Amino acid sequence: MGTQDDEGFEFDTRAVRAGSMQSNFQEHSEALFLTSSFTYKSAAEAARKFANQEPGFLYTRFTNPTVTMFQQRLASLEGAEDCVAAATGMAAIAATVFGLLKQGDHMVSSRSVFGTVVPLFDQIAARLGITTTWVNGADTTAWQSAMRPNTKLLFCESPSNPLAEITDIRAVANIARQAGAVFAVDNCLLTPALQRPLELGADLVVHSATKYLDGQGRVLAGAVCGDKTLIESIYGYVRTAGAALSPFNAWICLKGLETLRLRIEEQSDRALELARWLGTRPLVERVYYAGLESHPQHQLAATQATKQGAVLAFEVEGGQQAAWRVIDACKMISITANLGDTKSTITHPATTTHARLTQRERDAAGISDGLVRVAVGLESAQDLQRDLAQSLR
Ligand SMILES: *Cc1c(COP(=O)(O)O)cnc(C)c1O
Repeated sequence: MGTQDDEGFEFDTRAVRAGSMQSNFQEHSEALFLTSSFTYKSAAEAARKFANQEPGFLYTRFTNPTVTMFQQRLASLEGAEDCVAAATGMAAIAATVFGLLKQGDHMVSSRSVFGTVVPLFDQIAARLGITTTWVNGADTTAWQSAMRPNTKLLFCESPSNPLAEITDIRAVANIARQAGAVFAVDNCLLTPALQRPLELGADLVVHSATKYLDGQGRVLAGAVCGDKTLIESIYGYVRTAGAALSPFNAWICLKGLETLRLRIEEQSDRALELARWLGTRPLVERVYYAGLESHPQHQLAATQATKQGAVLAFEVEGGQQAAWRVIDACKMISITANLGDTKSTITHPATTTHARLTQRERDAAGISDGLVRVAVGLESAQDLQRDLAQSLR
């Protein structure tokens, strides 16, 4: 069952079966092909395969059966024609930029993207003559005004991490289409189980598979999904620049996709419950979670995604000192900047994920000193609440 014959199967079926390939051993669970290269029966066969006259595997930087299975399964879940995997989420984003753009091109990006995207665009891409205009991702008119004749790529993350700002994906997709530009959405926080940006009009979906696709905090991985032509260009960069995904990490993520919807829906439900409860705590001044009716873009969020994911943030009274005290007092929740794990994590964004920004940049981004981020895992909701209740005391 490959992506071609997926039609007619529901998401849950595709999550466990799409892209599956069997070797001559007829294994039931997808095999891990931990091999750097593949052999040929003759020199002529090798020549045909290298000339692309015959399908087959050559070398794992180009293609590998386990990586191919992961790509096809993820493409199927995102509703994409094709997918290319990359070594990390950042490699996937870099491949999108350098696979599609050239010197003199311009990008428009939401300011509220993953922290490392900022130096990638502002320093590395800028050095190669690719410039970026940063906008408030929630402000559709700002996207429109930032467009230039040479704008080739629009990029956003929605909902954003950690403040849950929502980009109107349909509206920005329209802006991109009218300009003949490509619109890429980082779907890391919701995954195709909750939000499918391509169905909303985006051209590409990028993933840090490190987060929910693995889901258990084991490996780094990334991917880009979209139509064949775009993915072919991005793949060209990945195989040439050596940003390919390791078969082992692909296998972890391939099997992770099988339980993705169950995990992230459960984690989202717990996050919503926790967000509601945090809103009633006296020390908590504000809660950021798009699943709350009080979130300014709750309505829009609900038209784009079935649930709002497992990342939430809240502001405590008393600035950094108070935020650190709350974090340090947690007995069970792990202090780490990662997210998308089965284990819940707690972070102080101002001094970790956003520490490289200046105070002014943090103020502009809304990352206050009293802000705490929680990425909800799969522990009991009651235990999570109990841990935060005692830490907020
Ligand atoms: C973690 C993350 C990335 C980067 O992924 P890596 O696998 O760490 O390279 C990109 N986007 C989002 C939203 C992320 O959370």
